[in-house]
Amino acid sequence: MAQESTARKTARPAESGTFDAVVIGAGFAGMYMLHRLRGLGFTARVYEAGGGVGGTWYWNRYPGARCDVESLQYSFSFSEELDQDWSWSEKYSPQPEILAYANHVADRFDLRGQIVFDTRVTAATFDEKESSWLIETDRGDRVTAKFCIMAVGCLSAPNRPAFTGMEDFDGPIYHTGEWPHEGVDFTGLRVGVIGTGSSAIQSIPIIAQQASELTVFQRTATWSVPAWNERLSAEYLKEAKAHYPELRAKARARPTGFYFLFNAQPALQASEQERERLYEEAWQRGGLPFLGSFGDLLFEKAANDTIADFAREKIRGIVKDPATAELLCPQNVFGCKRLCVDTNYFETYNLPHVKLVDVSKTPIERITRDAIVVDGTEHKVDAIVSATGFAAMTGSFDKIAVTGRGGQTLAEKWRAARAPISASPRKAFRTCS
Ligand SMILES: Cc1cc2nc3c(=O)[nH]c(=O)nc-3n(C[C@H](O)[C@H](O)[C@H](O)COP(=O)(O)OP(=O)(O)OC[C@H]3O[C@@H](n4cnc5c(N)ncnc54)[C@H](O)[C@@H]3O)c2cc1C
Repeated sequence: MAQESTARKTARPAESGTFDAVVIGAGFAGMYMLHRLRGLGFTARVYEAGGGVGGTWYWNRYPGARCDVESLQYSFSFSEELDQDWSWSEKYSPQPEILAYANHVADRFDLRGQIVFDTRVTAATFDEKESSWLIETDRGDRVTAKFCIMAVGCLSAPNRPAFTGMEDFDGPIYHTGEWPHEGVDFTGLRVGVIGTGSSAIQSIPIIAQQASELTVFQRTATWSVPAWNERLSAEYLKEAKAHYPELRAKARARPTGFYFLFNAQPALQASEQERERLYEEAWQRGGLPFLGSFGDLLFEKAANDTIADFAREKIRGIVKDPATAELLCPQNVFGCKRLCVDTNYFETYNLPHVKLVDVSKTPIERITRDAIVVDGTEHKVDAIVSATGFAAMTGSFDKIAVTGRGGQTLAEKWRAARAPISASPRKAFRTCS
């Protein structure tokens, strides 16, 4: 893999200066922004809190981390040469490969020179007289720019719930979104995983292969569809690359931004047998496109019930213990919360050393020196994995003191704009919990 910054913790002089644009964040969005700005002749500086490029793929190094949009589409689409030169090894490539790709792009397009790593932007203040932004960092930098571009990511501020007694715990507590770069070996350990969202669903089957005992604490069951991940053969890649421009064009034309088979027919117009057949075919293809089985699944509650019932039956068919299977069956709308894609997630609960603890009605009470306590029962653990996700969408904005016109802060502006959500005319759906 290409180099990561070695600047971490090393002293460097604070910088001052003026740029046309300052970009905050060097994930995929910040990298592309820099490339475009430079192409347009702008001077630009990028500040990145992490020690390297890649954003999501720099931070999320937990076991099993991979994309769930197919790699051939989960990649930059601005350069046909890049599309032709880079070869993905798997349908859904793992985190190290996606990070290697981000580093490859940084090198190939010579981006590193304008990125300052290990530096967190703390404030952005608009100067109305000068019509420019003053950007300040935790390393003492104070630079000005006409444009301040937030490429801070929608899932980049880890959500770390403060459980009572955490400080008493003798073992390590990891967050999936801040995974140690050197990796973690759980061999022989009793592990507790808190959360059953996307990161948990990817990591639980791998952690279960190492841990002597694995206890999963679930508040809300999650819809998940098998990935049927596979290695991509040279012939497959050759064929895909021959049609790459068409694939990119088809993806751009889709509201989702990626292309997949989509059946516009309403589910309720199909017979029960026809629905079962199409759901089964889509399940066997796997992945997020399962939600494209019919056109009305996200608009009609009765249609959504049909796919939810099908997926619940799949879970019941996989998980042998009926009580565990019922706990794993989501009761909310299918696809309302982000659909997950897994490899052996439900199967993992058939292993004798894996157990599921429901914390929906009796939340985690406290953490002791060697246990997680729920409803008076101590679940002994040596290590805890907090797969508790992120302060999504606005979390990273909240950490920057952004001040705009008239001295108004972004926090004040957003508070004022946050009007109560009015009842929707299509309010057939139960809300997600
Ligand atoms: C585990 C995981 C898997 C995912 N899989 C998929 C997938 O398969 N398909 C899909 O479409 N999406 C997926 N996503 C969503 C993913 O976040 C986006 O696809 C994409 O990577 C976001 O890129 P970005 O550049 O906008 O943000 P990020 O990649 O989050 O990058 C933002 C960067 O900004 C930096 N930053 C934030 N605040 C500051 C600050 N104040 N100062 C300096 N730097 C700052 C952060 O350190 C970070 O490096 C996944 C997300 C996660 C967490």
